[in-house]
Amino acid sequence: MQEGIMELMWRSSHVTGSNVHYVEALYEQYLDDPAAVPQEWRDYFDQLPNPDGQGSGSATSHDIPLTPIREQFYQLGKQQHRAAYAIAPSSDGEDSRKQVRVLQLINAYRFRGHQHANIDPLGLRDPSAVPDLDLAFHQLSKADLETEFQTGSFFLGQDQAPLRVIVDALEQTYCRSIGCEFMHIVDTEEKRWLQQRFESVRSKPPYTEGMRKHVLERLTAAEGLESYLASKYPGTKRFGLEGGESFIPMMDELIQRAGSYGTKEVVIGMAHRGRLNVLVNILGKNPSELIDEFDGKKLIERGSGDVKYHQGFSSNVMTPGGEVHLAMSFNPSHLEIVAPVVEGSVRARQDRRNDGDGGKVLPINVHGDAAFAGQGVVMETFQMSQTRAYKTGGTVHIVINNQVGFTTSDPLDARSTEYCTDIAKMVQAPILHVNGDDPDAVLHVTQVALDYRQQFSKDVVIDLVCYRRRGHNEADEPSGTQPLMYQKIKDHPSSRAIYATRLVQEGVVSEDEAKALIEKYRDDLVAGNHVANALVQEPNTSLFVDWKPYLGHEWTGYADTSLDLKRLQQLAAKMCEVPEGFAVQRQVAKIYEDRRKMQGGGLALNWGFAETLAYATLLDQGHPIRLTGQDVGRGTFSHRHAVLHNQKDASLHVPLQHLAPGQPDFTIHDSFLSEEAVLAFEYGYATTMPNALVIWEAQFGDFFNGAQVVVDQFISSGETKWGRLCGLTMLLPHGFEGQGPEHSSARLERFLQLCAEYNMQVCVPTTPAQIFHLLRRQVIRPLRKPLVIMSPKSLLRHKEAVSSLEELAHGSFQMVLPDQGKRDASQVKRVIMCSGKVYYDLDNWREENLLDDVAIIRVEQLYPFPKEELFETISQYTNTTDIVWCQEEPLNQGAWYSMQHNLRSVAEELKAGFGATLKFAGRPASAAPAAGYMSVHIEQQRQLVEDAFNL
Ligand code: AMP
Repeated sequence: MQEGIMELMWRSSHVTGSNVHYVEALYEQYLDDPAAVPQEWRDYFDQLPNPDGQGSGSATSHDIPLTPIREQFYQLGKQQHRAAYAIAPSSDGEDSRKQVRVLQLINAYRFRGHQHANIDPLGLRDPSAVPDLDLAFHQLSKADLETEFQTGSFFLGQDQAPLRVIVDALEQTYCRSIGCEFMHIVDTEEKRWLQQRFESVRSKPPYTEGMRKHVLERLTAAEGLESYLASKYPGTKRFGLEGGESFIPMMDELIQRAGSYGTKEVVIGMAHRGRLNVLVNILGKNPSELIDEFDGKKLIERGSGDVKYHQGFSSNVMTPGGEVHLAMSFNPSHLEIVAPVVEGSVRARQDRRNDGDGGKVLPINVHGDAAFAGQGVVMETFQMSQTRAYKTGGTVHIVINNQVGFTTSDPLDARSTEYCTDIAKMVQAPILHVNGDDPDAVLHVTQVALDYRQQFSKDVVIDLVCYRRRGHNEADEPSGTQPLMYQKIKDHPSSRAIYATRLVQEGVVSEDEAKALIEKYRDDLVAGNHVANALVQEPNTSLFVDWKPYLGHEWTGYADTSLDLKRLQQLAAKMCEVPEGFAVQRQVAKIYEDRRKMQGGGLALNWGFAETLAYATLLDQGHPIRLTGQDVGRGTFSHRHAVLHNQKDASLHVPLQHLAPGQPDFTIHDSFLSEEAVLAFEYGYATTMPNALVIWEAQFGDFFNGAQVVVDQFISSGETKWGRLCGLTMLLPHGFEGQGPEHSSARLERFLQLCAEYNMQVCVPTTPAQIFHLLRRQVIRPLRKPLVIMSPKSLLRHKEAVSSLEELAHGSFQMVLPDQGKRDASQVKRVIMCSGKVYYDLDNWREENLLDDVAIIRVEQLYPFPKEELFETISQYTNTTDIVWCQEEPLNQGAWYSMQHNLRSVAEELKAGFGATLKFAGRPASAAPAAGYMSVHIEQQRQLVEDAFNL
């Protein structure tokens, strides 16, 4: 019975009809979206071999089990096929079926041709068979090779052609030096665009002689630099590019082509390998500077400096579209983390240029194969690529794939995916694998990649498959761990040599000309000439930001952040305005109502008001603001509500964007759930946009530990290593309120441990006026230093944590807040120093116990340590016998271990005067930051407060 239905369906499916075009169109529709074709056709196509060789449709791939239904269809199809053959081999029905199979074959090449492509210069790739590319798999045979078939959507240049011609063209397009993966892309237009670019030229466009000579010249430069350095500094680490020299013509082409599109800036993220080569041959760093670095000379006056293969660089080059500014980011040893930094820097430049689609600024991120497959931040960077907060109009990613993991590891140990690039499929990026020994093919994928990015504003990946002629670094002997690979490499001619031979054979250059290129390059190096031929010697400085106003400032804690009271009130009124008819949610409406009262003087100012007003004043004074983080629109603890959501239609209103016409941007975005990539992005943004207030807020302070690498390797040390200033602000909610080990501490101790040489500021403001002036100080002062703020949770609503409008108008940020009581200083026996929320607990205790001989001083800036201010504040208490540092954090955490030498130095000086000693009150040392049980928390908190008074 079942068989009858199937048979009927088979017969009524019109497969035997002769309308070839109809079948073709239907089949292609099906391949794009099976649901788009009628059920019976879907069922028919389903039982054909699946062109991607996966899933349920691989009916003829006998190693894949068939469902019984499919088996029946398949058998039925075969019977029909045989019958058709037996009766009339050339009948229309069989032709139509074959036509469908030919289309399937075309699609199979599009899906899986890359697996047969000759992309490995060493020929080490496992050449395992891809059944989908066999004629037999599609029930075609050699006997069909001379038969003409419709070419369907294949860009062959003719509507029909003998199967032999079709297969040859497919082989040339998909199985030579380029292996492209794009069939995972859902968007039909993108897919067709890519097919057209590769198929119409069989992946081998005809390049002019001039172009190919230029490529040879750049390859010669790439090889020439490495061999010069190898002979001058044998065994010195340089992470040479040998084996991957095609990368230099690739970068050259990318930049030149981007310039012709009207790109004005290119930001490059690059790991170690090949970096020196790019610096000299692409960015135009003077070779003599590099030589000085090899000679170990100290090249900067201040700071630690960094090794040569971490250095960034900036220059301008000339392109067909005019001058282009190039910036290579400084890079820590931690591969990949620079990728989101580059994205942030690019976004800042795009924002500055009002470049919404990213056409004016191009990010290029260069990766190592092992890092690309291994590092989670790669996934995070892809994930951010199309989000509103982080998109940059597409990034060109280049993997310098030397087929060896970071030092010596085998690909079998380096990943579980087939290619090191598979992660890019998550954003449906096209992935273009190319054989580094075929520079013409390298040129082609480079052009396609950039054109794709410009056309679709999306990421694209080039996998430059090459090898590493030497070890991980030049002091390494690679054959110890990769014996077979290095036997091959030993006898393998360089990419330049291969290309030169090809061009000589094709009559493009003579042997002498090729040799002359080598000599000229070496002569230039020896003479100390620039060797990046497009370098502009007198760069147009308007292409990039002028950092001069921010350079050379010594640390100062003071900035005049006061403002005219009237202006403050006007801005406060503006920031509370909501458009007519905009339905604000009830609790949010109450917050805004309260803010209006605060503006009018009817209510003391709270944290949310002061913080928002700080933003309004900075915008008013011409500073753009960018605020991102996991819940920033609302604020984790619902104190901010900078973004209003219309309860009727979910439309948004951001009052801070409507202060005045032509005001600077106020950008606020909830981030996606990442810390590492987003913090790195904001670091990149802040190091490129000195005029702006750039803030990253963690949902809870401890979340920054997912981005520790960014704190260690960029935020805390970027200035001393690379001379790159950064005014990034981090808001990290911190405070012991019984929320357990994870959400209590922003790990203050970790930041303090990293503090030295005035590298950053760590502050714990405790009043609305303090956060107001602190945020303003960060931008008003020309000094650019990272600012880490332990921001409050319960203080956001604490009835005593309030300020007045006058304090905002006339005050400034106080690094030390003196005792607030009006007590006689000579009566004070005990001074308690603290920072953060515990102040209010201590103050309460003092009130409740009617203590008049205790002063409580808040250290609101822990680093740079305000020694003078603190000394001055305490020294008035001349009869003090006890000085206590009180903290909520356990003994081994918080400020104590990192700060006690500073506190002691104040106490020591005081001791000379009146003999006080320094004591500690806090939680006992603990492995976890805080207790998980509320009862334990309450008892610990009570105890530490009591200790502060009684120790
Ligand atoms: P870039 O556009 O990043 O290449 O920067 C252009 C120039 O501005 C650099 O050569 C530096 O002199 C300067 N510059 C860029 N960023 C910073 C920074 N974060 N701190 C100090 N100077 C910078």
